[in-house]
Amino acid sequence: MTFPVVGMVGGGQLARMTHEAGIPLGIKFKLLSDTPQDSAAQVVSDVVIGDYRDLDTLRAFARGCDVITFDHEHVPTEHLQTLEADGIAIRPGPEALRHAQDKGVMRAKLDALGVPCPRHRIVSDPEDVARFAAELGGSGGFPVILKTVRGGYDGKGVWVVRSSKEAEEPFRAGVPVLAEEKVDFVRELAANIVRSPHGQAVAYPVVESIQVDGVCDTVIAPAPDLDPELAGRAQELALRIGKELEVVGHLAVELFETADGRILVNELAMRPHNSGHWTQDGAITSQFANHVRAVLDLPLGDPRPRARWTVMANVLGGDYPDMYSAYLHCMARDPQLKIHMYGKDVKPGRKVGHVNTYGDDLADVRERAAHAAGYLRGTITE
Ligand code: ADP
Repeated sequence: MTFPVVGMVGGGQLARMTHEAGIPLGIKFKLLSDTPQDSAAQVVSDVVIGDYRDLDTLRAFARGCDVITFDHEHVPTEHLQTLEADGIAIRPGPEALRHAQDKGVMRAKLDALGVPCPRHRIVSDPEDVARFAAELGGSGGFPVILKTVRGGYDGKGVWVVRSSKEAEEPFRAGVPVLAEEKVDFVRELAANIVRSPHGQAVAYPVVESIQVDGVCDTVIAPAPDLDPELAGRAQELALRIGKELEVVGHLAVELFETADGRILVNELAMRPHNSGHWTQDGAITSQFANHVRAVLDLPLGDPRPRARWTVMANVLGGDYPDMYSAYLHCMARDPQLKIHMYGKDVKPGRKVGHVNTYGDDLADVRERAAHAAGYLRGTITE
């Protein structure tokens, strides 16, 4: 058996869908998961249950893997460096991953590369936040955005504060706090690329990502009415960041588009990303398939879209725990609908799946995605 074994750290839905993409290629997966109930642990046959923060667990897991990759960015850098010194291929590598683990490290690096970002600096306490707001001058000042540099996701770890009094909460976590100007963006975009160790890279079409309460709700591919020049700049920027940071695998560059035609980098993610889920049904090669190819240093697949428009809508948990009974109506209403469920318990607000729709008429494609996601959640009843 010469087919390689990909070791995946983390048992969430990204691991589950990456595993799914490896199946037709005959790629073996080995999973390190917190619990047997995790999304990917339910479907991968070779599962180790253990703590990714424990070096001995990681070392034992890495034995028998040809390469290690990740469902999340939380494995301690020093552990990854130790594994690398043991001769294990870590993709993306620990140096690259630091920029996705720590927003302070990411901002400092992007500044050094001259990449446009929201104005920002690390702040020491609520009074320092007030000084930062004053420094912004002009159209700046309060409100400002505060972020803990580590540990945030889906908007947890992000605060909009209007005064130094409101700025106390973020400092309670005992983690450095990054202050940013509150960007008056017209919309959020994502420029997603995949890069392999030998330097090949592919860029997906730039997408629009619509957040509700800090959580991604809908992604439209490609971003409607996006100036082609700006789209090209966003793709080039993502390719350049991928190269400079020596990212291997999927890199999502979350962007703000401003009214005056600028693009500012909000965030980097070095793994398959919610803004790329549309590619499962809407691109010739999905982000998951290309991530697998990249970490194995295989030639990358074509990232071009299969349809004029593809829309992804996340399915969040609602008050309606039985989503399966909604399949009858959703599938009957829209035979082209693609449903991707993660096997997770339904809890209010939790991402439990997503749907993809595609076609030529954007309004129709959006309506079908929103309807299916809402019906599965239980907020739409007919
Ligand atoms: P997370 O890591 O939790 O996803 P992000 O840094 O991506 O956090 O921020 C979550 C959301 O908060 C963004 O998608 C955006 O809507 C908003 N946000 C973050 N930073 C800024 C900013 N500087 N200006 C305006 N809005 C912001």
